[in-house]
Amino acid sequence: MEKDQRNSRRPRFLRGNPRKDRLQDKGSDTQSQKGEGPPKKNSFFQRRPRREEGVRAPATVQDQIVPVPSHEDFLFLPLGGSGEIGMNVNLYGTNKQWIIIDMGISFGDGDAGIEFVTPNLEFLKRSNILSYLKGVVITHAHEDHLGGVHEIWPLFKFHVYVTKFAKEVLLNKLEGKTYKDELVQYYLHEIPHNGKFEIGDFQLEFLDITHSIPESNAVLIKTPLGTILHTGDWKIDPGPVLGEPINPKNFQKLADQKIMAMVCDSTNSILPGHSGSEKEVYDSLQILIGKIQTGRIIASCFASNLARIKGLADAGFANGREVCLLGRSIDRMTEAAEKCRYPIHLDQFITEDIARRLPPEKVMYIATGTQGDEKAALARIARGVHRSVQLNSGDTVIMSSKIIPGNERRVNIMFNDLSRLGVNIITEKQEKVHVSGHPYQEDLKEMYSWVKPEYLIPVHGEMLHLVEHAKFARKCGLKTLIPENGMLISLLRKKILRSYSIGRWGFDGNRFIDMMSSIIKEREVMGKQGIVFATLVMDKKHNHFLPDQSIISVNGLTEDSGEDLVTKIKNTINNLFNKPTVGDDDSAGKLESESIRNPKVRERISNIVRANIAKMPLISVHWIYV
Ligand SMILES: [Zn+2]
Ligand SMILES: [Zn+2]
Repeated sequence: MEKDQRNSRRPRFLRGNPRKDRLQDKGSDTQSQKGEGPPKKNSFFQRRPRREEGVRAPATVQDQIVPVPSHEDFLFLPLGGSGEIGMNVNLYGTNKQWIIIDMGISFGDGDAGIEFVTPNLEFLKRSNILSYLKGVVITHAHEDHLGGVHEIWPLFKFHVYVTKFAKEVLLNKLEGKTYKDELVQYYLHEIPHNGKFEIGDFQLEFLDITHSIPESNAVLIKTPLGTILHTGDWKIDPGPVLGEPINPKNFQKLADQKIMAMVCDSTNSILPGHSGSEKEVYDSLQILIGKIQTGRIIASCFASNLARIKGLADAGFANGREVCLLGRSIDRMTEAAEKCRYPIHLDQFITEDIARRLPPEKVMYIATGTQGDEKAALARIARGVHRSVQLNSGDTVIMSSKIIPGNERRVNIMFNDLSRLGVNIITEKQEKVHVSGHPYQEDLKEMYSWVKPEYLIPVHGEMLHLVEHAKFARKCGLKTLIPENGMLISLLRKKILRSYSIGRWGFDGNRFIDMMSSIIKEREVMGKQGIVFATLVMDKKHNHFLPDQSIISVNGLTEDSGEDLVTKIKNTINNLFNKPTVGDDDSAGKLESESIRNPKVRERISNIVRANIAKMPLISVHWIYV
């Protein structure tokens, strides 16, 4: 069950260099030079090395088929979120039925033009799971759990089970989609708080659990073979500000039901102590904002953290400030909260126009943009390009959030912009302005003692978090089983059966593409190394290359039009076809197919560009015959 056992069960196709295999499998004439390729450092997919990239060896169709779950087994198969933060997708199977818990996304870095990333769910088709898929259950409305549903649904048309708040958030995302009505009418099922429901042979129960968004749910999954607690995201919060405090009894009573395994959030498993309560931040904000007597206040928090928005707003009102919300995602989330009758009271907020006319010390803004996203309200304000808010020396920005790893650079740029304006910046390092929504070690220990599961499966975290979570659980007396994306696990036999290669999808424009596809690599090379287009003209009758009629353009490579480089490229191609040197196979150059001729052209162009400006561009070759 532990690491040794997992390693001994590594599937045979873990070996080899699958990325190379995939990337060379291209029919396009647009490619970078073999062996020269894109820069090796900081490339989009090398920045986050993932184990399953190492399992991308070409697998046979048979290799990809997941056995139909028998009535004698209870299976678990994580596709995303085990070994990474984000894109949680977890499957449970028994008696010829599968259900999925969560269909989340991660955000791409934007440098390959990808909007968001999910596990490559083409796997559901090629594994044959789709034929037995009965439904998708969403634990809560965070993007890493709900964020993929609105774009993935039309591909597979599955039933979706959600509580009301997540439903409202989903409806907002579906706005303008042609399939919205069909989904809502026939496939969307709203489950009440703490509601019980059935999907095929699975008897399910939502258990209210505190987190950092309304209506986070743990899911109790009962089958004739045993019961699992899938915790979803959670913390132990006796004062969540919005929604009910966690009720220990709901979890303590599970101990009588003999929970076979607890599949549990690992985000903060390396941190000792308790995560702390939202109420502590609420109280701290009241005092902090009371102390700021002059200037505007702009507080920034995650748009989905409605308890925080309420805490900030209440602190503003209590200290004689009018409050104005800034940013579309805050508008969307607060509207969803109001539809669910959470006490957000949208009518108490003032518009940007009114706020602009108030004295600075009478106004407080709550804005999106905690991660320095340059399109979000706070970064636009920091750059001085926001349509209605201008900050001056003596104003205060409160960052009521944490910086998500990977966003430090963007946030720093924003902080520097704010500093240039003379704005005071308060972060969680100086004041109690943020708490995490995920359990620390003492919270985990408490939950184990309530539920008393037979064993623990850590999910929702990078491998470090999963391994440390397992270590901690073992210290607390639990057995553990560490999963990874693509591992098929028998919950009943507590055994890893085998692993599958899942890969990743990127949402690009209006469709999903394989993140290992040539599109991503080509974009990366184009972005960093430039591109050369060679439209070459051949006199077919005389079998003669016509340099004067051919067009070469170099893009992203020279500050001027690049005429000098273009001339050199034309000369080298002319030499290749019309003035062969000793050793060159001139007849092959002229007469052989484009697939043989083109690599020679690309090699010549690459050599010239490299020799002149030391760049290795993407090279696109096209032929015209006259
Ligand atoms: Zn999450
Ligand atoms: Zn969450």
